[in-house]
Amino acid sequence: MSQHDTLQRFLFDGAPVRGALVNLEGAWQQVLARREYPRPLKTVLGEMMAAAVLLAANLKFDGTLILQLHGTGALRLAVVECNHDRTVRATAKWEGDLPDLPPAGLLGEGGRFVMTLEPKLDKAQTWQGIVDLEGDSVGAMLENYMRRSEQLDTRLILAGTDHNVAGMLLQRLPDGHGDPDGWNRMSTLASTLTGAELLELPALTLLGRLFAEETVQVFDAEAVGFACTCSRERVGDMLKMLGGQEVGEVLLEQGSVEIACDFCNQRYVFDEDDANELFQFDVLAAVREARH
Ligand SMILES: [Zn+2]
Repeated sequence: MSQHDTLQRFLFDGAPVRGALVNLEGAWQQVLARREYPRPLKTVLGEMMAAAVLLAANLKFDGTLILQLHGTGALRLAVVECNHDRTVRATAKWEGDLPDLPPAGLLGEGGRFVMTLEPKLDKAQTWQGIVDLEGDSVGAMLENYMRRSEQLDTRLILAGTDHNVAGMLLQRLPDGHGDPDGWNRMSTLASTLTGAELLELPALTLLGRLFAEETVQVFDAEAVGFACTCSRERVGDMLKMLGGQEVGEVLLEQGSVEIACDFCNQRYVFDEDDANELFQFDVLAAVREARH
């Protein structure tokens, strides 16, 4: 299997540490092909994408892990979603030129970093955590968050270029599993990893070099791919939430309602017949009636 677009989970025999490596090339290219992102945003979005796959690697349920940045500055929104089936999608909104600043600087006043876990079957169990905007990178902010809020020692090393994005996650497991000093040793070794090594080396080569003295148990590589969860049915549901009156107004002005998916650019067009079918009444007649 190619090293690209794979997630590789691993464990150490002699230390209470679990880890994962991700390398995304095709999935990243799919995101870049849909929008011309300015450089500072490309860095942030690429790191979020690698981080989302790594954090979703050990999820115990079927569902979606969502990382979202909300801002009032040059960067308005960046969203990455990773599903339990190892599919990802990403999008962002921004205004004007983006200065070369850490994420907090791009987000401006009141910026927020939110992590959401959304189970597929029981949306009522959706869980959200607020990540402090403390740290110069996506990885640093998430490390701080995991340590403080989840009491989980974590190293998250991320790197990206226009070609691919990659990352390595290490997490400390409860003591009792091997050498108690194992966490310190592994995280120190991880700190020596360079961005170029992360981006270019096949996972097995990287693990063999970085942890040469350790016995690493490597699981089968898992494929990761870009996929969008949008559908005509979901867009229809959204139009229903807007209401027949609102949709009728747009139909009257523009002849059809056109919605484009922010993640994949897919266009969904609803004409008068589609709208009547959706709302089960004559939408245009209702709007004309209301105007009289
Ligand atoms: Zn879509």
